[in-house]
Amino acid sequence: MTEPDKRPETKPAEPPASLIVGIDLGTTNSLAAAVFEHGPEAIHKPGQGPIVPSVLLRKEGRWVVGEAARAQRTEAPERTVFSVKRLMGRDIQDLAEDLPRLPYTVEAAQRGLVKVRVGDETFTPQELSAEILKAVKREAEEALGMPIERAVVTVPAYFDDAQRQATRDAGRIAGLEVVRIVNEPTAAAIAYGLDEQQRGTVAVYDLGGGTFDISILELSGSVFKVLSTHGDTHLGGDDFDHEVAQEIKRRILADRPDAELERPGPSMLLRKIGEQIKIDLSGADETPFSVELPGQNLQFSDVFAAETLNRLIEPYLDSTLESCRKALDAAGKTPEQIDDVVLVGGSSRIPLVRRKVEGFFGRRPNVSIDPDEVVAIGAGVQGHLLAGGRRDYVLLDVIPLSLGIETLGGTFSKLITANTTIPAQATELFTTYVDNQTGVDLNIYQGEREFVRDCRNLGRFKLKGLPAMPAGLPKVEVAFLVDANGILTVSAVEQRSGQEARIEVIPSHGLTNAEIERIMDEAIEHAVDDLNQRQMVEFRNMAQAVFQGIEKAWPEAEEMLPKAQRVRIRAQMEMVKRAAAGENPIALRFEMDQLGELTRPLADTNMGRAALTELRKFFEDHSGDEHDSG
Ligand code: ADP
Ligand code: MG
Repeated sequence: MTEPDKRPETKPAEPPASLIVGIDLGTTNSLAAAVFEHGPEAIHKPGQGPIVPSVLLRKEGRWVVGEAARAQRTEAPERTVFSVKRLMGRDIQDLAEDLPRLPYTVEAAQRGLVKVRVGDETFTPQELSAEILKAVKREAEEALGMPIERAVVTVPAYFDDAQRQATRDAGRIAGLEVVRIVNEPTAAAIAYGLDEQQRGTVAVYDLGGGTFDISILELSGSVFKVLSTHGDTHLGGDDFDHEVAQEIKRRILADRPDAELERPGPSMLLRKIGEQIKIDLSGADETPFSVELPGQNLQFSDVFAAETLNRLIEPYLDSTLESCRKALDAAGKTPEQIDDVVLVGGSSRIPLVRRKVEGFFGRRPNVSIDPDEVVAIGAGVQGHLLAGGRRDYVLLDVIPLSLGIETLGGTFSKLITANTTIPAQATELFTTYVDNQTGVDLNIYQGEREFVRDCRNLGRFKLKGLPAMPAGLPKVEVAFLVDANGILTVSAVEQRSGQEARIEVIPSHGLTNAEIERIMDEAIEHAVDDLNQRQMVEFRNMAQAVFQGIEKAWPEAEEMLPKAQRVRIRAQMEMVKRAAAGENPIALRFEMDQLGELTRPLADTNMGRAALTELRKFFEDHSGDEHDSG
């Protein structure tokens, strides 16, 4: 990525007439992507995401598709259709395993095909998929401000001819010329440019909402051949939601054995909460949650730990690795023979998934492209090439927004600034502001503003078990490391005790170029105000710490300093207080310097207490690199 502030949002690199977009028509989610002047990107309206949930709601003789349908699915389950992809090109026998899991009615139709019944109407899977494609097409046309007529559409590598044909038909019904059907894993590999390498055997691990696929691809010439595929058509994020919901249910019942949680309302609610917890835990070690069922006079709050989620989903993940082993066997390859691993699908964001996959293949997977978008992006690149476009966009990997942590008073301390090329790393020393503090909260943010409230939270963790020490003595070294895949690892080590904690996040997730642009613009607009406010917060914090130091050393002051001097110190403390109540950082800094002069003899004495000596350093070097992380 380069200079986000100059990036045009919606201008394709190719002349409109030859635009061919890529569309990922997914079981859970669908979206389109295209190649822009600055490179390939998922198509979205400003301030919105590119994803159209693959959910349809029949309402007054029309289809509502996408987020609106998904949001209302609990209210009108009998008119809601989802997972249509499972029905594409299949006959009723093929679907024996699927049908019991689908709440809507699927009937046998002529030539062994199936139809979905909604009220007294019936629809073919092709027609339903066409509605999803139409919604994706419409959204993309509105975002681009031009018509879209041609598309590359992706399908799972294991789709047979009938399933591929059904997908083509869906495109035709939607008014799209399907220029090519591309395998999803191939598209993902293309998105990473792996087709441009000399050699390559690539494993694509795709863990979505309801399906898991592993594909082993081999590059021959510049074309990927599918060596083998394996997977489980009923394993994915939905199972994890279910497991979390079951765990919450157990906890509620332990507390309230009378709670009725099996009814559709509560069990839907628990699923929804379960999914949110799962998603939150991809960026945090634990997350609070609460369940409210006013009808049952039930209110339950608790904390869900990532460890618990990991324990619940581990058996599923082990089974995906078993599939990986089988796919490798079928391809006649060992993990060491795999040159690249690509992660695809929303569920591949779960840190344990990444660790397991990395452990299995013995190499870091490619994750720098959003796993929700990577298939559509690869299809978009393919469309661009088919339309005669060239691959001359620059894929310079830079950190789009500054990364740092929250420091006392809600200020944002940047460790790595925007536009640093990756890999990148930075370390900084922080200390505490409160005596005997045994834990430090590290709250990681991304943004360009001076206060974290104006930045984007990426995750948090706690460094625990610090030995009790006076404020200012602990030295906490915080290290930020962004690797070549765009994964940020933040670690914190307290240097005296060696206590350590760390977290991994992907800063580019869910960020669009439009958002980056907006964030940059706002930062410029607020720069002066922000800086003033930030300095006020910093100086106030310092003043408070200095006051504490003075109070501690006061018994010595009584002995050492003449009364007049002590009165002057007290008076100056009042001046500092008054300035601290104001909004002018320069005035406050001035009063603090005066106080520093007056208290200098105190800090210089042997008895002057480490505390005040430490604090004096702030006067001499308050702009140095030691902040608090209280
Ligand atoms: P599909 O390919 O089946 O259409 P997706 O690749 O869009 O599905 O994945 C959807 C799944 O990803 C859902 O189960 C959703 O809960 C899950 N998901 C999305 N974001 C996260 C996240 N941050 N952490 C864990 N799971 C996530
Ligand atoms: Mg998918």
